[in-house]
Amino acid sequence: MTQTAIIVGAGLGGLAAARALEAAGWQVRVLEAGPEVRTFGAGITLTANGLAALDELGVGDAVRDAAVRQLPEGVFTDQGSPLQQGFRTDSSALHAIHRGTLLELLRGDREVETGMRVVSATDASAGGRASVTIEHGAADPDSSDARSERERRRDRARGTKVGRRIHRLLEPGDEPIDRKAEARATKAQVRALRDGRFETIEADLVVGADGIDSAVRRALWPKARTDYSGATTWFGVVQAEADSPSGTRQYLGRRAEFGMEPIDGGRVYWWGMARAPMGGRADDEVAAALRQFDDWAPEVRDHIAATPLAGIARRDLWSLATRLRSFHRPGVVLVGDAAHAMLPTLGQGGSMAFEDAATLGVLLEDHGFERALEEYDRARVDRTQRLQRLAQRVARSTTRTRSPLLVGARNGALNLMPALATEIAVDWVLAWRSPRHTE
Ligand SMILES: Cc1cc2nc3c(=O)[nH]c(=O)nc-3n(C[C@H](O)[C@H](O)[C@H](O)COP(=O)(O)OP(=O)(O)OC[C@H]3O[C@@H](n4cnc5c(N)ncnc54)[C@H](O)[C@@H]3O)c2cc1C
Repeated sequence: MTQTAIIVGAGLGGLAAARALEAAGWQVRVLEAGPEVRTFGAGITLTANGLAALDELGVGDAVRDAAVRQLPEGVFTDQGSPLQQGFRTDSSALHAIHRGTLLELLRGDREVETGMRVVSATDASAGGRASVTIEHGAADPDSSDARSERERRRDRARGTKVGRRIHRLLEPGDEPIDRKAEARATKAQVRALRDGRFETIEADLVVGADGIDSAVRRALWPKARTDYSGATTWFGVVQAEADSPSGTRQYLGRRAEFGMEPIDGGRVYWWGMARAPMGGRADDEVAAALRQFDDWAPEVRDHIAATPLAGIARRDLWSLATRLRSFHRPGVVLVGDAAHAMLPTLGQGGSMAFEDAATLGVLLEDHGFERALEEYDRARVDRTQRLQRLAQRVARSTTRTRSPLLVGARNGALNLMPALATEIAVDWVLAWRSPRHTE
């Protein structure tokens, strides 16, 4: 009999997992909380390992064709003086692409059920099958209401006690509403339950691909905690100008970093990270970013200034502070940021999500279900957590470097370190191979 999977989230990890499981012969439903499949309007850089995973998922060549292949130009000071030459070998070639283009390629003509916000999940430990509970007509997770609710929740989590856990209220078998659970729930949640706005769906496997704020993780790994990095990022996409780079450029300053690279459609994707209190927002984010990078190299300011207001976005940077010992529970598995959200300082979060999905697919093809999930942990937990730690360390030398002395020391070290040495240091990341080829 065909096995069934529910994939929670239609981001990079969820759509990749849908491909992988379908290729392994599973019947898949993809549930997405947002009103459509979408992503924040920016580019993404893919390294050799991410592309190898996309090959396993059957979409590598289509992504290579659409993306801009480039050798990084290197690292510069905030004033534009060279600090380190870019990597030169073929394995260091990067492919940069607009996130919208990448999502479309991953999705293909796959059906995604939108407006389906999962609020809870149960595993199969009590017998039966794993399940998720969906709230119909829930707020769009990208709306400002939903964002401020997430920020409130994180604030509460800092004080360690998270009261009113809706996942307890919503476990199947909770009917009629149990009094204790009702006491823990908010009035609105109880009303919603009585109105039949919630629906529970079962499957042989639930894949939590619902990002850093994962509802699946919250339900089944309730102690896991996310951390604010202390930095925010602006990013934008503009048409390429005369002073645009031909390969990825990174500029390092005091407690800030800027980068830009060409992407598909003759466009340039830029990002600027800087220390900032959590939750800061400006009416005019272009002006706010220009203030932050005011005295940086002219090309940095030019690219920010050329960005239309509708083309700039801003995100505070969070990561998963708790290292999960396992990425699965009976009948439930996490992929992508839900399992190991890391700071974007290495540009590896997306590639890790592709590796997760490709690995899961191959293991489900080759092994029985339980063994596949055990093997998945063996293949994924150490590797992704090593990268999480490395991304934190890199953040310390960029957005957390405040003293001019430390900035000087960091820049000096980069100047002395030949590009090849850095390249060898990241070789273990780039050299990923599908488990199909490593047995
Ligand atoms: C500024 C920045 C730059 C980055 N640059 C790079 C880079 O260059 N290269 C790289 O490889 N990585 C990069 N990353 C990391 C990369 O973007 C993430 O690791 C990747 O998007 C994770 O994919 P995901 O599918 O796990 O999560 P997400 O992309 O967050 O997708 C989660 C999906 O689940 C949906 N969802 C959420 N909650 C629910 C729910 N309760 N029910 C149903 N659906 C839900 C969301 O709407 C979303 O569609 C960057 C990240 C940031 C923040």
